[in-house]
Amino acid sequence: MNARATLAFALLATLGACAAPPKKGAPITPISASSTPRRTLRRASGEVHVRLAQLAGAKTLEVRDAAKACVKIERAGTALLCDGVRQTEARFAERGPWSVNGRRYRGSLVVRAASGASGFEVTNALDLEDYIAGVVASELVLWSASLETLRAQAIAARSYAVSALDDRGARRTDPFLYSDTRDMAYAGAFVPKNERERELDAELARAIESTRGRVLLEGERVVDARFHAACGGHTADARDVSPEARFECLRSVPCPACRNELGLGRESAGEPWSFTAQRAALDALAQRFRVGTRLERLRPVALDSGGRWLEVELVGPSGSARVRFEELRRALGADKLLSSAIELTVPRAGDELASTLRFEGRGRGHGVGLCQAAARECASAGWNAERILAHYYPGARVVDWR
Ligand SMILES: [Zn+2]
Repeated sequence: MNARATLAFALLATLGACAAPPKKGAPITPISASSTPRRTLRRASGEVHVRLAQLAGAKTLEVRDAAKACVKIERAGTALLCDGVRQTEARFAERGPWSVNGRRYRGSLVVRAASGASGFEVTNALDLEDYIAGVVASELVLWSASLETLRAQAIAARSYAVSALDDRGARRTDPFLYSDTRDMAYAGAFVPKNERERELDAELARAIESTRGRVLLEGERVVDARFHAACGGHTADARDVSPEARFECLRSVPCPACRNELGLGRESAGEPWSFTAQRAALDALAQRFRVGTRLERLRPVALDSGGRWLEVELVGPSGSARVRFEELRRALGADKLLSSAIELTVPRAGDELASTLRFEGRGRGHGVGLCQAAARECASAGWNAERILAHYYPGARVVDWR
């Protein structure tokens, strides 16, 4: 048994009922971070490390093994208290699945104190394909996703993971992915609770198995295959969203699903939305972008080929400023100003602003790459995953990259 396995075993031996008072036991010797081997994922197989953002703000962690034995972890300054035993980190080796605060994670876990005064840094190391299954289940509503939608999402997610870890592996000794919108949503393994969910889980397993190791390639590089909830009619060019983008296949394409051009008889595709910014939020924008204390006018000054807003001009008593739309979106709230596919504003763009400014638009998210709403609609219209991906990542090819 190597040193790490010994430590994992030592921690497992402390597992008891979480409700019981803390046990006194032999403290677990921490493993230094420098003992983590350098690793990258250049092929579409092997293990990935995921930083669990959903646990970062937890007050306590309850980690259970398959037999429901439990250890309770709390913060103690810069260290942890594991069932009352102080240690700098806790490792749960590959005897998973583990349940953490009610969610199930395959593979192994490492828990450390987060850098601030509270919270945890939890890293889940697991097989790439188990991770992709978790991402697909978190990114899509399984009950409304057909097999081909799941397959398209799996290939895109696998490509993104391999590409991102490869990039980060050049800069970090231990590259990882975040489990939120900084990378891809991942809430652990899908756990079916009834017969219908067991059918969905079996469909998910089929999607993963039938695309195992398959990624999108442009030239000889795995594509940074970004995706988003709904484009609203036209996807965005990655270079307009982030200047470092480097794939031709991440260019803007018209979306037949969001344009209701698939002959499915739908009216609401493209996911219309509206958001009204109040005067206080408008004035906060003026101050943030240094045009004075009151926002007087706002208008788009650069659009992409599909009509998405790229840059806006803000005018206040102290002058004007050109701002990238994504900055404006972050400032007003990405959960409110849902996309750059804005169809109209009230008052009209560039007119004098009164007490509010209403935006009406379509779509959700940055608009780059695969439109998830379209993947669902295109599959309903009979497209398979490869055809869906060929449309949203034009020129890229799907290959087995193991
Ligand atoms: Zn779309």
